Amino acid sequence: MNESIPMQNLPPYLFARIEKKIEQAKEQGIDIINLGIGDPDLPTPKHIVDKMALSIYDSATHQYPSSVGRLDFRASVAGWYKKRFNVDLDPRSEVVTLIGSKEGIAHISFAYLDKGDVNLIPDPGYPVYGIGTLLAGGTSYVMPLLEKNNFLPDLDKIPSDVAEKAKLMFLNYPNNPTGAVADLNFFKKVVDFAKNYDILVCHDGPYSEITFDGVKAPSFLEIPGAKEVGIEFHSLSKTYNMTGWRIGWAVGQAKAIEALGRIKSNLDSGVFEAIQYAGITALEGPQDCVAEICKVYQERKDVVQKGLRKMGWNVKGPQGSLYFWVPVPSGYTSESFAEEVLDKAGVIITQGNGYGVYGEGYFRIAMTVDKARMEEAFERMYQALGKVNV
Ligand SMILES: *Cc1c(COP(=O)(O)O)cnc(C)c1O
Repeated sequence: MNESIPMQNLPPYLFARIEKKIEQAKEQGIDIINLGIGDPDLPTPKHIVDKMALSIYDSATHQYPSSVGRLDFRASVAGWYKKRFNVDLDPRSEVVTLIGSKEGIAHISFAYLDKGDVNLIPDPGYPVYGIGTLLAGGTSYVMPLLEKNNFLPDLDKIPSDVAEKAKLMFLNYPNNPTGAVADLNFFKKVVDFAKNYDILVCHDGPYSEITFDGVKAPSFLEIPGAKEVGIEFHSLSKTYNMTGWRIGWAVGQAKAIEALGRIKSNLDSGVFEAIQYAGITALEGPQDCVAEICKVYQERKDVVQKGLRKMGWNVKGPQGSLYFWVPVPSGYTSESFAEEVLDKAGVIITQGNGYGVYGEGYFRIAMTVDKARMEEAFERMYQALGKVNV
């Protein structure tokens, strides 16, 4: 028996391939420094872990949670949006809790796509936008993110017949993998575009709190009217080092939030309530941990920048996110350069074409190892490759 056509087109998840490579190198006894995976290495702040530990002994948390999340968790999300972005949200109708935002990002396509429908997808980009589209039977129309446009899609380049057909537009700022931050000007254009063509904007913003050199990232929902045409995905994963806990949310247009909640109520049973209590503590408790986390990444960013400069790259570096997005030296493809760095320096970088065709010619560095290890990685790369031809 054959798999369905979408399944036949479904590649193994990007990071599954990288993990295999690491395993092989480890078997050969090589010490690998992994700059490949976008998973914070720092622990979840203690006051959040403590809340979880207490909550787990409350047997009321042991039953099925509501699939859209506890109302008090949703209220704390709304409170955080008000405080952080001055955006008003109704916790009952405009917030849905997710089992990590990846889950909602994948499921939203099932709410809107009929076979052959089109989603607008940024490229390079987080693979889940296109994968959700594919599994729901839809087609991706690629919006290139080019350096000359500050890695923002050029909306004027989207043909009007494509825009007429499109259902969803995925966006992600601060951006994985490019590190770009969008401004309100751009979001305003997106809202106008979405109104014009009746498109639901799905803005993915898990890195809004991880920014550098004084940059502050806005929410898409700060634009008047955004809530009529869009939703925003967010997560505790990156802000509070909680990737393993699986808790996130979507906020915005009530119709889309209801639709996502209806899908979830039929497919899953929500987030363990003890985790939701810990989430409330994360959002409502002291926020100095976020500043500390940012400071650690800022220090690592400076190490990476220095290391790249020494090798001949003159990169600006990210405004936000955990990543450097760097062109490969001339004469290499994304794959051949990643291979070379792994073989000669024992360092894993992510090949840019894993994020789409417009990622070809780039590689990504994740700042998810400590400063000393990061310095060692660049020392090894310098020893192995010397100055590169960029
Ligand atoms: C890490 C990440 C997420 C968040 O994933 P969770 O499922 O909330 O852990 C979403 N989008 C992008 C672009 C990411 O890099």
